[in-house]
Amino acid sequence: TQVPNITLNTGAAMPQLGYGVFQVPADEVVAPVKSALEAGYRSIDTAAVYGNEEGVGRAIAESGIAREDLFVTTKLWNDKQGHDSALKAFDESLERLGLEYVDLYLIHWPVAAADKYVDTWKAFQKLYDEGRAKAIGVSNFQVPHLRRLFDETDVVPAVNQIELHPNLPQAELRAFHAEHGIATEAWSPLGQGKGLLDDTTLSSLGEKYGKSPAQIVLRWHLQLGNVVIPKSVTPSRIEENIEVFDFELADDDVAAITALRTDVRVGPDPDTFAAGA
Ligand code: NAD
Repeated sequence: TQVPNITLNTGAAMPQLGYGVFQVPADEVVAPVKSALEAGYRSIDTAAVYGNEEGVGRAIAESGIAREDLFVTTKLWNDKQGHDSALKAFDESLERLGLEYVDLYLIHWPVAAADKYVDTWKAFQKLYDEGRAKAIGVSNFQVPHLRRLFDETDVVPAVNQIELHPNLPQAELRAFHAEHGIATEAWSPLGQGKGLLDDTTLSSLGEKYGKSPAQIVLRWHLQLGNVVIPKSVTPSRIEENIEVFDFELADDDVAAITALRTDVRVGPDPDTFAAGA
């Protein structure tokens, strides 16, 4: 399967569907990343705090796929925010990944109480200027955090990676991103599997389109314009999750899925989360 790209505000192309490796232990990550690359995924989403950058790097190296055909994202953990500590943490991530550059480097959480994300962002601009991060972005930023970056710095994030799934469709942030040229990337796009995929709306749409509930949810994201990074360590599901480019949901079916909104998060509140900081 060939995944279409979106164009970031840097002009760079980013695959609209990638593979996320949250909660996959370092010594178990190589095989599923290889499965994903074999299935056609070219974008891998990791983070320093996931503790598996080395394994991701090993899978990439062993795959034999040319570096320029891959899109690798990693993230700065909360305890490394600040100008100099961010630069050092970036070097350490590159070293663990065994790469010369990443395609996207994200501030993992704003940690507004520590008030370091503006200084951190200035360090990210340096990494971007040096070409070692081909694009820079943020994760879990809310509108006020983004506005502060606009007011106090010169570079608009290429991406904001946020919790987003049918229970949390994030209409306000998506509209804000669209207005400012920021790509919306959905984490936990399947709501971590849990209750969401058992919803009867999704199973009946699955029957209508001949697809699984997970595929219906991923297709909904794609039609909203989101970048998605579903996670699975099961080869059959890794393949299933990329088989979403051969059908299209009708507009009223997209709306029916958006109506599953409950605003219940599976992850922490971005305004207060400060683990590690
Ligand atoms: P997800 O929504 O991708 O759900 C993954 C879970 O859904 C799997 O563990 C499995 O139980 C189930 N699943 C996957 N495919 C399925 C299928 N086809 N059918 C049935 N069940 C299926 O959740 P996630 O892992 O939390 O999020 C995806 C990625 O987003 C992560 O791996 C990580 O890269 C990123 N992420 C980022 C942040 C952040 O703060 N930036 C936070 C969480 C996750």
